[in-house]
Amino acid sequence: MADREFGFETLALHAGQIPDRETGSRAAPLYQTTSFVFDSADHAASLFNLQTFGNVYTRLSNPTTAMFEERMAALEGGRAAVATASGQAAEMVALLNICQAGDHVVSSSKLYGGTHTMLAVNFPKLGIEATLVDPDDPENFRRALRPNTKAVFSETLGNPAINMVDIAAVGAIAREAGVPFIVDNTAASPYLCQPLRHGADVVVHSATKFIGGHGTSMGGVVVESGTFPWDNGKFPSMTEPSAGYHGVRFFETFGDFAFTMKARMEVLRVFGPSIAPFNAWLLLQGLETLPVRMERHCANTLGVARFLVDHPKVAWVNYPGLADNRYHALTRRYMPRGAGALLSFGIRGGYAAGVRFIEGLQFVSHLANIGDAKSLVIHPASTTHRQLSEADQVKAGVPPDMVRLSIGLETLDDILWDLDQALSRA
Ligand SMILES: *Cc1c(COP(=O)(O)O)cnc(C)c1O
Repeated sequence: MADREFGFETLALHAGQIPDRETGSRAAPLYQTTSFVFDSADHAASLFNLQTFGNVYTRLSNPTTAMFEERMAALEGGRAAVATASGQAAEMVALLNICQAGDHVVSSSKLYGGTHTMLAVNFPKLGIEATLVDPDDPENFRRALRPNTKAVFSETLGNPAINMVDIAAVGAIAREAGVPFIVDNTAASPYLCQPLRHGADVVVHSATKFIGGHGTSMGGVVVESGTFPWDNGKFPSMTEPSAGYHGVRFFETFGDFAFTMKARMEVLRVFGPSIAPFNAWLLLQGLETLPVRMERHCANTLGVARFLVDHPKVAWVNYPGLADNRYHALTRRYMPRGAGALLSFGIRGGYAAGVRFIEGLQFVSHLANIGDAKSLVIHPASTTHRQLSEADQVKAGVPPDMVRLSIGLETLDDILWDLDQALSRA
């Protein structure tokens, strides 16, 4: 089987898991345990020395979680992955893995609200500075580079701005600067976009969203390409002996999965934002149907976009699947299978009409999430991005009149009916 390159759908069902040898269980077993019995004192010692791979304690690794990690690495075309308690934890783990006080990150300014706060408010308290740049011109990332820059960061398809970033162009700028390009691929999902194939070095996800797919479980994941040259002189913590872990030199010892091992043994192990095995198990179930869900998400969202464009109560529609959208060409290039499930629009009558619209909806739910099988709506300026000033909201791609939809898998005509009746009340 090893010679064959399996398709995405097959990997979504099988990667990282074979029927259980002990019991024959076809479904992935759930190892809801904190700890694992050692075979002997020698075995325990070699596990702690990182000489043998095996499970010690679920904060570090767990067999159910490992299936999820391996499947995610396969679906992103990466070398290895480490799962985390949430998407925020995935970003924190990825960045703290290579950044410390005195370091600097260049990031897109069009970010998820929590990520914006992490980079603009919380990391500076740890001595890690970030410069946020308009991602529409990739050269803005180059202009913000400093000698102490350790990473370039962006979302692929942005949430909630629904902007597409030129992954190859930004990746090339990061590579020239000798720093990894870390991307948040949450809004696209690996079915629609595989950033590692276009020049990104590390992918992070909020698996809470499309990967889980049913609004039941928090989780995140960090996937590495395995091709970044960590020994280029900029990352001593990857090449010098680790004070926190038995003097291991991560890059020398683990090579193309050194980033993942360091994230696991230095960040996850010490700071502790580990995923619960039960959530990893639920996310595995979600991955099995990711391809078919994403296809229907995209088809329904395109249907909604076309409906809203012609609606008299709608001032503007932002969906990169529409031919006149400014991100249409980039999205076709990086997301050829569809433009995703996120759509935003401006409602005529501004803020007040937006509130009446949201309150008039019957089954489209008003809440702070995306990527559920059910259709969702939110007004970012009054919720997820409300800590930002109005000027920063505009910079983040979230003008005050914007309503964001995450279109689900209901019958398209029913979604259109609900939107239409609520628009008529607005
Ligand atoms: C939701 C989200 C996050 C944060 O993920 P959590 O699982 O909620 O911690 C990060 N980035 C993007 C793009 C998101 O949509």
